[in-house]
Amino acid sequence: MTRSNSLEQFVHTPRIAYFSMEIGLRSEIPTYSGGLGVLAGDTLRSAADLKIPLVGVTLISRQGHFRQVLDVSGRQSELPEPWQPEHWAVPLPAKISVPVADRDVWVQAWLYVLTGSSGYEIPVLLLDTDLPENAPADRRITDQLYGDGAEYRLTQEIVLGIGGARTLQALDFHVHTYHMNEGHSALLALELLRRGKHRPERQDPLGEVSDVAQVREQCLFTTHTPIEAGHDQFDYGLADRLMARFISPSELRRLAGNQRLNMTRLALRLSGYVNGVAKTHAEVSQQMFPEYHVHAITNGVHPGTWTAQPLQRLFDQRIPGWRYEPDLLVRADQIPANEIWEAHSLAKLQLIESVRERCGIVLDAQTATLGFARRMTAYKRPDLLFSDLHRLRRIAERWPIQIVMAGKAHPKDVAGKALIERIFQMKQELSGMITLVFLPNYDMQLGHLLTSGVDVWLNTPLRPLEASGTSGMKAALNGVPNLSVLDGWWTEGCIEGVTGWAVGNSGAEANGQDADALYTQLEDNVLPLYYTDRAGWVRVMLGAIAKNGYFFNSHRMMRRYATAAYIR
Ligand SMILES: *Cc1c(COP(=O)(O)O)cnc(C)c1O
Repeated sequence: MTRSNSLEQFVHTPRIAYFSMEIGLRSEIPTYSGGLGVLAGDTLRSAADLKIPLVGVTLISRQGHFRQVLDVSGRQSELPEPWQPEHWAVPLPAKISVPVADRDVWVQAWLYVLTGSSGYEIPVLLLDTDLPENAPADRRITDQLYGDGAEYRLTQEIVLGIGGARTLQALDFHVHTYHMNEGHSALLALELLRRGKHRPERQDPLGEVSDVAQVREQCLFTTHTPIEAGHDQFDYGLADRLMARFISPSELRRLAGNQRLNMTRLALRLSGYVNGVAKTHAEVSQQMFPEYHVHAITNGVHPGTWTAQPLQRLFDQRIPGWRYEPDLLVRADQIPANEIWEAHSLAKLQLIESVRERCGIVLDAQTATLGFARRMTAYKRPDLLFSDLHRLRRIAERWPIQIVMAGKAHPKDVAGKALIERIFQMKQELSGMITLVFLPNYDMQLGHLLTSGVDVWLNTPLRPLEASGTSGMKAALNGVPNLSVLDGWWTEGCIEGVTGWAVGNSGAEANGQDADALYTQLEDNVLPLYYTDRAGWVRVMLGAIAKNGYFFNSHRMMRRYATAAYIR
């Protein structure tokens, strides 16, 4: 790290504290599991480029999420993925404690410094309970991202929310706004509420009402989950046991709902600004929570991070300034066809080389390559493409295809794990006809390689379950058109035949016809264009960059957060 690693340079600037259970800081640091963490990382990277004064707060997750191991039939097992904080971060002096059941758990933060393209630095605090003051079990609270069991999770959320707020205070950070990225950190708002109550000048007769109003002024909340069941919730039996010394059961119920401790409800109640992560997602959330106003700030991806080297060189040459102002990519449709094709071909060769190194399979550079990588879980339907093998084979006879896939299933997601095994069976069924590669251990590096190196990026979730999705945005930035169900960001990004192609219509009624729609698109539009009309294909590639890449980036997203949410 540069400079003195001292906090001094950071604590005098008023900041927005950005809380997230996971942050994808870099691929060497496995403190993320998927889209939420990658988005948090892109948020901080764009803030650093744009010199927006944030401070990130997250757990250190010493054992990472997990490393995915697949046997020959695609059965997943999980290994810890430990990392060495001392290689990347420095421990900070302050120690604070948080009450958990009848004990105090001590928390110390490490400082990771994230540097933007012009050298502007953003501090990220990694909260750690692996301290000699703590009992052995408590030393492991910040080990495993999304570890097993409700008690472990709620304890982590106490450390993140309450511990994070206390750490910022102990280190003398000057925080004017708290941004909760998903509900995991909602307890921080309770800590702010508690502070307000204990301030002597706030012993006014209005009491609680004005306290809540004051916390709402300080807090904003970004929700990421379009279904109630997906929201983080805990039984009150557990919550009361762990938190009785922190908040009274009656007050907790008043703020977080009567049935269960619902982190989304709590965050909504105590935030003055609430947003969903795409337009459709905000509408769905608005219906779920009619008593709140849910704004929409559509996600984006960090341009410098997710653009492959050959395309970076091309953009630097043809669209100087795109790194700071990706809106300039709107001019990408003026890039000469041979130059974008050449840059993409290099990115594709990098993927082919990496696939060969990773699993010994040699893909063909001339063959249309479909990519699909995301968490393996039922609603994402990674097997939709294989619904009718007869039809898929018939298409491939005429228009050759190869498929590259990746994705982890959550260790408890039995159906998700079965899907990986099913895809491995497909590999056998299709062999000789279609090369299908499943690369183990999907992570940021693999995401980068896949979204830039394939020819078409596929996404086939059940509507309306994809809140946003961001991997397709990475593809667009790299001139890789999307072929996707109209859900999440793609309802905003899809211009048929211009930026890519839709699978089926919008609305959940269309879910049942998607396999047919997917095959028809491949057969009638996507593959014929790829094989018979290079100029037309390149126009779609450039359309993806110019009409999707210029907008669905995290610089635009952060400028929106700054003007709509941070400055209110
Ligand atoms: C971008 C990314 C994601 C999120 O992609 P989705 O389209 O939202 O599934 C998840 N995991 C990794 C490793 C990524 O790079």
